[in-house]
Amino acid sequence: MGSHHDHLQEALDSLKETRVRMTPQRHAILEFLFSAPSHPTADEIYKALESKFPNMSVATVYNNLRVFKEAGLVRELTYGDSSSRFDSNMSDHYHVICQDCGKIVDFHYPGLNEVETLAEHVTGFDINDHRLEVYGTCGDCQKHKKH
Ligand SMILES: [Zn+2]
Ligand SMILES: [Zn+2]
Repeated sequence: MGSHHDHLQEALDSLKETRVRMTPQRHAILEFLFSAPSHPTADEIYKALESKFPNMSVATVYNNLRVFKEAGLVRELTYGDSSSRFDSNMSDHYHVICQDCGKIVDFHYPGLNEVETLAEHVTGFDINDHRLEVYGTCGDCQKHKKH
């Protein structure tokens, strides 16, 4: 596919335009976000990269994620009191979440903009966004259960 790499390059280019200084840590965090299979938390990013950058702290990871978020490169998914997850897929999509292992997988489903329109009509809100999540058991966890 190679799309992760193109996506990463685009992100690097757009950061250059916003004059965000590129540091090795910043590059590594961005690269991780664009190559990681699934919506990591700041803590997971930190754990994946700490051996490479012994001086890096979780706070550094958070600060960089904030920079990426402000530059429009990642989306933050908050889940109540548990920690946020970061999504480098900025296109419209929905999430299916495994209730056993917490894995988040993207999927596309058209047509839910109608919900926004309806919500606008019935509530008078100016609707900007919506979020849909479906829950279940992922393939890996289903296998584990059968054994
Ligand atoms: Zn699972
Ligand atoms: Zn996603």
